[in-house]
Amino acid sequence: MNAMEEMVKYRHEKVLFVNNEKAGLKAIIAVHNTNLGPAIGGCRLWPYESYDAALFDVLRLSRGMSHKNAVAGLPHGGGKGVIIADPSQKSEAMFEAFAEAVNNLGGDYITAEDVNTTCDDAMIMLRKTKHICGLPMNSGDPSPFTSRGVWQGIKATAKVALGRDSLEGVTIAVQGLGKVGYDLCRYLHKDGAKLIVGNRSNKAMLEKAQEEFGATVMGTNEILGAECDILAPCALGAIINPTTLPTLKCKAIAGAANNQILDDATGLALKEKGIFYAPDFVINGGGVINAAAEVDGPYDEKAVLEKVDNIYNSIEHILTESKATGEPEGVIATRYAESLIYR
Ligand code: NAD
Repeated sequence: MNAMEEMVKYRHEKVLFVNNEKAGLKAIIAVHNTNLGPAIGGCRLWPYESYDAALFDVLRLSRGMSHKNAVAGLPHGGGKGVIIADPSQKSEAMFEAFAEAVNNLGGDYITAEDVNTTCDDAMIMLRKTKHICGLPMNSGDPSPFTSRGVWQGIKATAKVALGRDSLEGVTIAVQGLGKVGYDLCRYLHKDGAKLIVGNRSNKAMLEKAQEEFGATVMGTNEILGAECDILAPCALGAIINPTTLPTLKCKAIAGAANNQILDDATGLALKEKGIFYAPDFVINGGGVINAAAEVDGPYDEKAVLEKVDNIYNSIEHILTESKATGEPEGVIATRYAESLIYR
């Protein structure tokens, strides 16, 4: 993979490659776009099988953050950092060195926690950089805000796709009972939805969901083919693909997971199958809305909740346009995001 060619293709502004031998840090930081303001996006730690895989991931994720932040109405562009390591290799020196690399970007990139990086890791980075958000003593864990935004998006999806003003009696299959998925179930149960749940290797969470919500349990893969009104993927990306597509029996998909649809062709095939889709980077923006509030402070939770609740309107708007034009929802949302970024 040629890094410069990829950068130009996806319209990135800067990519920083870091090889700090002393600190044991190999990392890539991608700043996709700063037209709307400094780029925000988390720092992911992952044992990538190749440097190309890491580069591909950071370019795709940082571009996704530009779209997410723009649609959420934030004064921020998109960026992302990836550390190429196994979680067992984590060290203070590694995170301090990453923070120093963030400083080298002169404030164009603001980092945060992401997959395999925690509030504790963020506190280590804070020793070396002020370009960081999502700190425990400020906005804290973004997950509850993500769950709330997804709940709003699901309500809007039910309205447009099912013609329902409430979730009472609507069957919703939630794949993944992690930080976002379980909290989401609480909102849905309170609204009277019938829940089906699936979660990998955590029997206790499944039993808890059975008890607390009267949820029906299904296998982690089988749940994708569940007879339901709405499928809410809250675990992995790329789960809507040519293999799973023919098995889907839902009327709509609306969940928290990033990059749920494998590619554009699958997005089109989903539309042709008559299944509505709430674009992930719109519906799961609650967490970054909360984290950004800390940067653009003073932090005001009431203002954050208003912005998060506005995800209802964004999803309703996109699905309504898709219903009228037949265009895939992801295409509509991306065009809207880019009209804000490149105007
Ligand atoms: P998490 O790690 O807390 O939870 C993920 C859950 O999915 C775990 O319980 C895991 O056991 C389960 N899981 C993994 N593979 C599975 C499979 N094949 N089938 C069923 N369950 C499976 O993560 P989270 O913070 O709850 O995030 C969930 C998703 O939402 C991720 O894709 C994440 O990138 C995305 N997201 C999260 C946030 C946030 O604020 N946490 C924000 C935006 C997007």
